[in-house]
Amino acid sequence: MSQYPKSQALTCPLCQKENNCAVSVGEQIDTCWCKAVVFPPKSSLIEIQPDANACICSNCLDKIKEELTLGLKRVD
Ligand SMILES: [Zn+2]
Repeated sequence: MSQYPKSQALTCPLCQKENNCAVSVGEQIDTCWCKAVVFPPKSSLIEIQPDANACICSNCLDKIKEELTLGLKRVD
């Protein structure tokens, strides 16, 4: 019931580009790039990432980490 259509699972919720999740191409989650990087605490992601069930892409992760490291507030 709560499963997303496959197309949405492939898309980064922030930039709408492909997130290159290994699962989306039939690989194990353990082989995904997201297993090789360090994510910020979930509490800081929850404000940025609208959908906790969708994978963001490595580009957006880099941007988020940069913002958190610099301590900047998001100004849109
Ligand atoms: Zn993205």
